[in-house]
Amino acid sequence: MNDRTESLNIDELHWHLGLLHNLDVGLVVLDTSYQVHLWNSFMVNHSEIGPARIREKNLFDEFPELPVEWLRRKIDSVFQLKCPTYITWEQRPYLFDFKSQRPITGEASRMYQNITLIPLTAPSGEVELVSLMIYDVTDEAVSRIALEDANKQLQTLSREDRLTGLFNRGYWQECLEQEFNRFLRGREPSTLIMLDIDHFKAVNDTYGHPAGDEVIRQVATLLTKHARRTDVVGRYGGEEFGIILPHTNASQAEVFAERVRAAAEMLEVVFEGQSIQVTVSLGIREMQGDVQDEEQWIGQADEALYHSKQNGRNQFTVYEAK
Ligand code: GH3
Ligand code: MG
Ligand code: MG
Repeated sequence: MNDRTESLNIDELHWHLGLLHNLDVGLVVLDTSYQVHLWNSFMVNHSEIGPARIREKNLFDEFPELPVEWLRRKIDSVFQLKCPTYITWEQRPYLFDFKSQRPITGEASRMYQNITLIPLTAPSGEVELVSLMIYDVTDEAVSRIALEDANKQLQTLSREDRLTGLFNRGYWQECLEQEFNRFLRGREPSTLIMLDIDHFKAVNDTYGHPAGDEVIRQVATLLTKHARRTDVVGRYGGEEFGIILPHTNASQAEVFAERVRAAAEMLEVVFEGQSIQVTVSLGIREMQGDVQDEEQWIGQADEALYHSKQNGRNQFTVYEAK
């Protein structure tokens, strides 16, 4: 090599190094025993550890909070397979515990990171070094998380009945359709109960609409209290509710219906100093193979409910096929 090429190479090396150091990406080069060979300015700025302190040191000794086993496995596989590997913030929000430098995004106090591990091949073909590239993806992560939160809220809003917090009619009916199809696949018992508050018009007329609202709310709470976690309670209409009882046959549903009926009878709703009492009527229809669709299922539970009303209210009726 003559003097000219040698000086050129050194020049080139100089600006290459300058570039690496000033990249807005973290750059760490490790050997097979995890000793640090390169620690660029990004890493210095965020870790407040200078290159002199960390050079030739074992990375894990300097950062005991790193997930040692997990990261070792990643690094070792890059050495063995000679292939790059990637770690996204969704898998692990960050590797290095750096503060986020974005005061505007009050949501994130830590820097979210995407990491790339690249094998560095020597002229001999051997891979003796691995490079870790650390990308700051806090902005992307924060906006994604905010979007997901907003979507979740929207979804809840679109499922929820505003007055009672129960499922609204639309979503509840979707659940009923699913339950209907589940029955067709598995033939597990499943029962539907429709419930309506008795003489509710009189409640509104006597105590006023806001008092009526409070009664609806408290009957809803009562239903939630008595239902199992797998039961699906929805507000079907004004003062009418639907309860899907999966894995439940008609006689088991009767036990539930009687409990709800008795609890409603005992319920005392106090509104603006006035005490209000109501009763409820219920209709029970266990799913059977001859029920055509979920509309008919509701229709038959409603028929049983109508029978309870005709028969004097404050009671339940099990649907009987004619
Ligand atoms: P029945 O025993 O036969 O069920 O008698 P009912 O008086 O309850 O009869 P119906 O089901 O026809 O009346 C329901 C009433 O509920 C009519 C409507 O004004 C009232 N209503 C519907 N939605 C609401 C609501 O959100 N809040 C209040 N306060 N009242 C409502
Ligand atoms: Mg009613
Ligand atoms: Mg009604």
